[in-house]
Amino acid sequence: MIEMQDVWKTYPNGVMAINGISIYIKKGEFVYVVGTSGAGKSTFIKMMYREEKPTRGIITIDGTKLATMKEKNIPYLRRKIGVVFQDFKLLPSLTVYENVAFALEVIEEKSANIKKRVMNVLDIVRLKNKARFMPHELSGGEQQRVAIARAIVNNPSVLIADEPTGNLDPDTSWEIMHILEEINERGTTVVMATHNRDIVNNMRKRVIAIDGGRISRDEVRGGYGYES
Ligand code: ADP
Ligand code: ADP
Repeated sequence: MIEMQDVWKTYPNGVMAINGISIYIKKGEFVYVVGTSGAGKSTFIKMMYREEKPTRGIITIDGTKLATMKEKNIPYLRRKIGVVFQDFKLLPSLTVYENVAFALEVIEEKSANIKKRVMNVLDIVRLKNKARFMPHELSGGEQQRVAIARAIVNNPSVLIADEPTGNLDPDTSWEIMHILEEINERGTTVVMATHNRDIVNNMRKRVIAIDGGRISRDEVRGGYGYES
């Protein structure tokens, strides 16, 4: 599903963010990526959705080699991978419905299907009753649920989340985790970078720890494992 073979990333300013990582993530897995600030977590997951390109090494997502992929095929990659961010990244002038529909419209989905699919994912994140609301009328947790709906509306095989609970209180964070768990149970592979010790320790999923741009630990049912 997701494979990295001896992947390295040096930024143009010379910072060596990723230094020889090889991993294999199977279809349907739920994986936490942990590590101290600056360890390379964001760079690691940004390379999975081609926001950053590796300096060296091979990344394969669902059978597609990212390096040799033609620019014109990137939209197809974006249909295989949904992404959720710490700061939600909703479009402020669009309603909840429009924010989610937008992801389908940009890939030229047939308009007849759009409404059905948008309402279906808003149901999964329990926000059907707020379809007409604007983002600023929602709580942080609700905004993150809209972002999740947007990320899954294309039925991606992989959902990538970069600190999705970073701006949320503990109860709201758990709500978000239960939704991500449900999405994972429907068969979507989930890769989530996080600093949330409680969540990692309670969920007992695969944990990949990154330290200095290398994998320092990879456990099937791991814990958070840092003192702070
Ligand atoms: P984490 O997500 O674990 O905090 P990052 O992947 O963001 O780690 O950063 C790893 C290292 O790469 C850090 O030293 C960071 O300063 C550096 N870095 C991240 N993004 C860039 C960039 N766009 N240009 C230059 N250096 C970067
Ligand atoms: P560009 O078209 O300028 O290369 P991108 O398409 O890479 O820009 O990304 C545009 C914005 O969408 C960025 O904020 C990026 O992080 C985000 N993004 C990229 N891929 C996805 C995805 N699969 N799902 C959701 N958001 C994404």
